[in-house]
Amino acid sequence: MLIYNEQLQELAKYKSTTGSPMISLYINVTPPYDDTMQLHSMIHSARNECREKMDPGAVDDLERLFSQIDKYARNHLKGLKNTRLVVIFADSSGLWQEYHLPVSLPGQMVVEPKPYIRPLTALMDEFKRYLVLIADSRHARLFSLYLGDFEEQPDVFMESDVPDRVRVNASMAETGGQAAGKVYGGLGDKRIESHIKDQIHKHLKYAADKTFDYFRKKNFTRFLIGTPDDKNRPWLKGHLHSYLKERLAGEFNANPTLPDSELKKAAMEAASQYERENERRIIDALFEKSISGNMAVLGIDPVIRALRKGQVHTLVIENGYKTKGYICHDDHVLSSMEENCPLCGASMTEVGDLLDGMAGEAILHNSEIMHIFTAHEEFQKYHAGALLRFSMQ
Ligand SMILES: [Zn+2]
Repeated sequence: MLIYNEQLQELAKYKSTTGSPMISLYINVTPPYDDTMQLHSMIHSARNECREKMDPGAVDDLERLFSQIDKYARNHLKGLKNTRLVVIFADSSGLWQEYHLPVSLPGQMVVEPKPYIRPLTALMDEFKRYLVLIADSRHARLFSLYLGDFEEQPDVFMESDVPDRVRVNASMAETGGQAAGKVYGGLGDKRIESHIKDQIHKHLKYAADKTFDYFRKKNFTRFLIGTPDDKNRPWLKGHLHSYLKERLAGEFNANPTLPDSELKKAAMEAASQYERENERRIIDALFEKSISGNMAVLGIDPVIRALRKGQVHTLVIENGYKTKGYICHDDHVLSSMEENCPLCGASMTEVGDLLDGMAGEAILHNSEIMHIFTAHEEFQKYHAGALLRFSMQ
């Protein structure tokens, strides 16, 4: 199954009842996936790493999980439809959660007390849930675009009620002819033209209204439109509800009768361009607000402090940057330095990717997470930043 926000929330909250370690496995199964080498080498390195720092009981638990995963991989990972990435979270208390995603990531296995979710948050940031309306003067089609999956949403539109041009001409010629004899002499063609225009507007308004209802009903995040490069686009935009207009992330040239694969390509390009522009905007806002006031912070330690106070509106992290850190899982306390937990006094657990812990905290606080995929020199000095909901001063 694909992953949605609710499941990510659950994962961020999850704590094993037995206190045993959890395996988070990301395995790239892009066809033609046909070997288990990738998995075996991940198991091999995880095993070596864990034997050094775990007690024998935990190591035994872990070995059982390794064989369970190995057996599963042998039987289930070949020839999966629409799947490039399989993500599995498993621990010895019986948790087994599995997600199949149509976009790939490099494989990795992490053994830590909590699910390693940062790669999933990066995917979900890059691939927001888009609703895509593709329309011309006679057709309208709706697609969802999520995690690289482009799927038509049937049954939203009734059969388009725009009469075809021939029937319009015929019926108008009849009534137009009679009317023309009395009043409108010679204006028949213009009337037909304006009648067709009315019908097109009726069709586009219908498509826009239905799209608005569907967008809200299904909680989409962003909106794209594809039309031919003609008057249909401004007409369609004129009928969009303001709520939808505010969420319009891009427009592209498309004809609804094109094959789905071409529509998908055009929609994905528009979405990706929007994501890049959005990164730029967020970084500008971070620097502007942290310089001019106290509604943004830059740097890992200031961001951790803001997370602890629940101030973070949007957590911004550099994709691919990793640094180790320390976490008290009982108290949700993070630190970049080795120290005892300031709340319970226990020594904190070392983790390989502190930014993963930050992402988990952000999810628990319902903060947005923005991953910066493109290189921004200024931001790379800090690796992390946050736009704040409120300031403490
Ligand atoms: Zn603690």
